[in-house]
Amino acid sequence: MIKRRKTRIVKVGNVKIGSSCPVVIQSMTKVATVDVAKCVKQVNQLAQAGCQLVRIALPTRADTIAFAKIVQKVSIPLIADIHFSPARAVEAIEAGAAKIRLNPGNIKNHKDILRIIDAAKMHKTAIRIGVNEASIRDLKNQDVPQKKRVALMLKEMKKYVRFFEKHNFTQLVLSAKSSDCLRTIEINRSIAENFDYPIHIGLTHAGLAQDAQIPSAIAIGTLLAEGIGDTIRVSIAGNPVAEAQIAKQILVGIGLQKSNKPELTVCPTCGRCQIDVVKLAQKIKKALNGIDKPLRVAVMGCVVNGPGEAADADIAVCAAKNKGYIYRNGKKISTIPENKIIPALLKEIKNNQ
Ligand code: SF4
Repeated sequence: MIKRRKTRIVKVGNVKIGSSCPVVIQSMTKVATVDVAKCVKQVNQLAQAGCQLVRIALPTRADTIAFAKIVQKVSIPLIADIHFSPARAVEAIEAGAAKIRLNPGNIKNHKDILRIIDAAKMHKTAIRIGVNEASIRDLKNQDVPQKKRVALMLKEMKKYVRFFEKHNFTQLVLSAKSSDCLRTIEINRSIAENFDYPIHIGLTHAGLAQDAQIPSAIAIGTLLAEGIGDTIRVSIAGNPVAEAQIAKQILVGIGLQKSNKPELTVCPTCGRCQIDVVKLAQKIKKALNGIDKPLRVAVMGCVVNGPGEAADADIAVCAAKNKGYIYRNGKKISTIPENKIIPALLKEIKNNQ
């Protein structure tokens, strides 16, 4: 059981973040914000895929005008992603952003940040303060050692948090982003030690899906296992629905979320294999698509480890020479000739829906 870090609770619309509240999955829309219909469609797809919050980039006035319409058309709270422009931040808050994501480092004038704080207080909008390794001037030099990098990011975060607290604003979520897995872990550990605000975690600029998912899972999974992290985003270049799916897999894998989808266990296969396990597993996976039930199905290539896995599965097959043993809830229920294994398993899955 993971013991979550105790933090303040921050409300983002109807979603609570922090302490023992469930870890929230978020992602970002990747279509032009001014295209309201496309944006609404993507927000809905992300909500369907498991996101409780979705962030939208608002670089121009036209985007904040569109954002006001998008807020009205979706059912989950939206986060406005703001860079450089205090005007966009205030417009987004007034348009109904439940949270804004701000890197105070790129809004130079304190008076401008105060305007944002005042608007956020008035509209009960949360603010996520982001510190990005790439945007800290002193870290541009490649040779800066890891410890110093982490210390400089923490120093920057302390400066921002102090400023917001001095102006009585505590509806804060903190995030420190790096594209380096170990630095992401280290900086978030430091933030967790130094502040009691909820933390948003993720690896930034992680790459294409095939390159990004393992480093993201390592960084996010390590921190979550230590109880650190209250919202997560898996950043990948590509369809954001995949971000939500990978984030969900991380949460399910680490036991922080229950899956309502079937889980397929497949033996890795080896020289003892007595059937084409991969082909069979692919067919079973296809058959499991669209089933919204936490069903555990195991496909095992021989009887060496098969019965053990079968005991943990709702439905399982263990292959033997020219035949397969079908298990239901750990009990062997039938012996099937090899060419009838797939229909027999599919029938069992159907009966279990
Ligand atoms: S279940 Fe059998 S075939 Fe599959 S990996 Fe284990 S020993 Fe090999």
